[in-house]
Amino acid sequence: MKLAERTARLGTESAFEVLARAKELEAEGRSIINLGIGQPNFETPINIVEAGRKALLDGHHGYTPANGILQLREAVAADIGTRHCVEVEPEEVVVVPGGKVTMFFAALMFGEPGAEILYPNPGFPIYHSVIEFSGATPVPIPLYEETGFSFSADEVLSKITANTRLIMLNSPANPTGGVTPKAEFDRLVEGLEAHPEVAIMSDEIYSRLLYDEQEHVSLLAYPSIRDRVILLDGWSKTYAMTGWRIGYGIWPGSLAEQATRLAVNSNSCVNAVTQVAAIEALTGPQHSVETMRLAFDERRKIMLSELNQIEGFRCVEPQGAFYAMPNIEGTGISAGELQDGLLEVAGVATIAGTSFGDFGEGYIRFSYAASKEEILEAMRRIRAFLATRVE
Ligand code: PLP
Repeated sequence: MKLAERTARLGTESAFEVLARAKELEAEGRSIINLGIGQPNFETPINIVEAGRKALLDGHHGYTPANGILQLREAVAADIGTRHCVEVEPEEVVVVPGGKVTMFFAALMFGEPGAEILYPNPGFPIYHSVIEFSGATPVPIPLYEETGFSFSADEVLSKITANTRLIMLNSPANPTGGVTPKAEFDRLVEGLEAHPEVAIMSDEIYSRLLYDEQEHVSLLAYPSIRDRVILLDGWSKTYAMTGWRIGYGIWPGSLAEQATRLAVNSNSCVNAVTQVAAIEALTGPQHSVETMRLAFDERRKIMLSELNQIEGFRCVEPQGAFYAMPNIEGTGISAGELQDGLLEVAGVATIAGTSFGDFGEGYIRFSYAASKEEILEAMRRIRAFLATRVE
């Protein structure tokens, strides 16, 4: 068999590999604390589950429009209007099976040999993977611990060339928990006015997971670039719905039709029951979202304080999402080796910073979407593991 050359360029998300290994070890009877994969350890709020169950009983078993049920797209548009104060038409909304699919579609739409696509590094690994797959050249936007892993507008602008088609951005960010300040967004948008041909895909999947009274900055809310911003968001993280597989993109102008065409050619539509449940998520009571956010905030504080007490670790305060990414250079162990040692010996699943790009060497990522008890026990195990290494 001869496969297309692009298949070899498709990357992966190590979190799934670590999860598989953690499950194997658990099956062998080992106790594993999973701080690897980024998914809330809460149940989906009951009103959403009930809406899904009712949808099944009511016979929502057929295909829906490829871009999503109209009532759902209206609910998304209304939600965006309330949260970001931007008017969005239901026609601009394309509902897809998870947040990831919007980035895949954007890479396919803009990427081809000769094109350049900018992406955050360290960043969600799928950005780099889908850019490579498209044939475009991935151009990293380095993120630094010194600036809380927020991006620098000047650095982003300095990377734009005549070949740049698309810039992928993410705040609040995976894997760092970094949140880019509004002033930086303002500067970026001002600078982008000189590059009217460059599109922006703003991954705002963690927009409702911000701490310390911070307000989310949405790139969709800037009128001067409104006609070239693709917004990526979804239900996975906000409503603890990772396995339901639903997300959406807001696509400007004719891009919504292109995205819908990609959906027709791949997934046809998101399963109908999930879509009905997602309407309830957006239009029903929102108190569980706040309850989960407050719980994450408490764990964030515990994890930050614990990480900074581990010899050889140093962690900047994460301000959003549910990740912390300490610098581990002081341990003298590489990120990959530490990930493996912690999983195989200490029974703690984490993800090496290098899984998020070259700029992740010297860091490992912890998800604090786990219980307080698990976090404290994990930290105890890590201290014990590192103590044996020093002896
Ligand atoms: N974008 C970022 C930054 C993420 O961290 C994730 C998941 O971890 C996604 C998108 C994908 O979300 P989904 O599970 O809805 O596809």
